[in-house]
Amino acid sequence: MNEHGAPMEFPNWPQFGDEERAGLLRALGQPGWWRMAGGEVDEFEREFAAYHGAAHALAVTNGTHALELGLEVLGVGPGTEVIVPAFTFFSSALAVQRLGAVAVPVDVDPDTYCLDRAATEAAITGRTRAVMPVHMAGQVADMDALGKLAAAAGIAIIQDAAHAHGARWHGRRVGELGSVAAFSFQNGKLMTAGEGGALVFADDDLYEAAFLRHSCGRPRDDRHYRHRTGGSNFRLNEFSAGVLRAQLGRLDEQTAVREQRWALLRTLLAEIPAVVPQGSDPRCDRNPHYMAMFRLPGIGEQRRNAVVDELVARGVPAFAAFRAIHRIAGFWERGAPDETPDEIAERCPVSEAISADCVWLHHRVLLGTQEQMHAVAGVLAEVLDSSPRR
Ligand SMILES: *Cc1c(COP(=O)(O)O)cnc(C)c1O
Repeated sequence: MNEHGAPMEFPNWPQFGDEERAGLLRALGQPGWWRMAGGEVDEFEREFAAYHGAAHALAVTNGTHALELGLEVLGVGPGTEVIVPAFTFFSSALAVQRLGAVAVPVDVDPDTYCLDRAATEAAITGRTRAVMPVHMAGQVADMDALGKLAAAAGIAIIQDAAHAHGARWHGRRVGELGSVAAFSFQNGKLMTAGEGGALVFADDDLYEAAFLRHSCGRPRDDRHYRHRTGGSNFRLNEFSAGVLRAQLGRLDEQTAVREQRWALLRTLLAEIPAVVPQGSDPRCDRNPHYMAMFRLPGIGEQRRNAVVDELVARGVPAFAAFRAIHRIAGFWERGAPDETPDEIAERCPVSEAISADCVWLHHRVLLGTQEQMHAVAGVLAEVLDSSPRR
């Protein structure tokens, strides 16, 4: 029970207060409302880079654009391939495909739902330019193994860190792992301005290239339309940055609560027969928990969907997990490998299984009370007990 007494009244999302209000007013008072005139985007980038241990951050319009821009400065384009998890949000592949490159779906680990090392190794070809680990729900992918693979093959890593604000791997922050990382600030993400995104860089040249490209190829001080490169307009506005500076300030406290609640909820879920919570790799020593995920192995997609509907009806913000990307119609528009969906499915049995048997709960659940974790597990056990087997 929380203060209101209702077991399923979880905190709202997004959360905001005087800090966000002050950020918006600061943005209003800037000499201009785009980043070239105001100071909020610049300040946010400094703060976000420092928070993640990166040399540079570049704020952009959204997480999909962050991935696209990061891939572009890493040399991804026509004739190249990028390895992506088959189990992820569609944008991981879309960003590759928008650049005229091929997105190659590869299977994930059944426990962490992150890129599988052996499957990644098997998918590397002479055309592979980059590999994109997705830190699923905040669980950092095996960056040791993937780092070794990438170095040996001479390919780049771009981390899809859309779920991983503030995550750590062996105590190292996302920006300290030696590769470009892309973040999202979309409404549901762990910090948000409704929309928004960012890249972090260890490398000065990649950052400079990305800065030019995110602003139609124009250097910061250009007054004579000397566009030095191509690119697009991916600039973030001052208002969003003002809000994001406040949101960054909430992250540590919220992450600490979510880590505690997940430790409890995960134990309770694991006690329910037929429920397997997402596993954690102990090397990921700070997990911000973008989702509370669990599998119902062998349940089948239809019954899984019915369980989700029943959880929602009982007040638990539950969702069916991502559909494997090769099962999405849009994936086949362009930039798909020269394989059929069934051939990819055969290579990616774990992604197929997870997309049919996995459920996730909104992270606002993990901002609830300890009692609410017991209530959620209790409701799930009841729903599984009462839902027909077939
Ligand atoms: C949200 C998300 C994105 C895209 O971010 P947007 O800001 O919505 O464009 C990319 N990858 C993953 C894994 C995501 O969850």
